Amino acid sequence: MTDEKLLYEGKAKNVYQAKQADEVLMVYKDQATAFNGKKKELEPGKGVLNCKISSLVFDYLIKNGIKTHLVRNVSDHEQLVKKTEVFPLEVVLRNITAGSFAKKFDVETGTHLEEPIIEFYYKSDALDDPFINESQIHALKIADKQDIQYIKELTLKINQLLIPFFAQGNFDLVDFKLEFGKIGSEIILVDEFSPDNCRLWDKQSHDSMDKDVFRKHEADLVTTYQKVLDRLVSQEN
Ligand code: 5GP
Repeated sequence: MTDEKLLYEGKAKNVYQAKQADEVLMVYKDQATAFNGKKKELEPGKGVLNCKISSLVFDYLIKNGIKTHLVRNVSDHEQLVKKTEVFPLEVVLRNITAGSFAKKFDVETGTHLEEPIIEFYYKSDALDDPFINESQIHALKIADKQDIQYIKELTLKINQLLIPFFAQGNFDLVDFKLEFGKIGSEIILVDEFSPDNCRLWDKQSHDSMDKDVFRKHEADLVTTYQKVLDRLVSQEN
């Protein structure tokens, strides 16, 4: 662990100042939450699994030309990352109908969309992460039009890279949430990519292999995330 200054306490990670002024340490926690923290449980092993899964995904994206904040892993549950000015936005991309989209529009879950959908949510626990549109993002000076356009293009590009990545592990990439940060004028991918922030369905059985198992009490979270890691690792070898 670190004795450095705690900069931010999140639901799934803590962020500390690193030795270098322009870097921070992300420490993955074993705590699982859902419904904006209303459901909260300790899941021993979750932090290590998410750190390992996110490292695999980020390493793959980096190899394919996506700029991210990842510097290196410093332990099995800690990553050194570049300090950025994080946009207070959750960028959600959907390939298949599920979750809040299916509920909001009363459409069937599991329909493959002709084109991916991108949605923005304003990151605010107090406001329950409300949906926000591009004009609102602009009006509130959260990001300018050029930044929003670039974030959308980058999200689509990441999706095009991740669909085949997860398909090799026999998963359908249903949807996911990304976050972006800025260093100077450059926008890069930040946060994590794990079953906490995406929906992965087994291609044959369509079983959920992500945080929905926790949200819906369908299966053990740690056992499920371990299976995701094992399948992603075995595809690499
Ligand atoms: P939905 O809007 O259907 O609830 O979520 C869409 C996708 O974004 C899912 O993969 C979900 O896990 C992810 N997502 C949405 N909001 C959050 C959030 O506040 N935190 C995390 N980690 N993921 C989120």
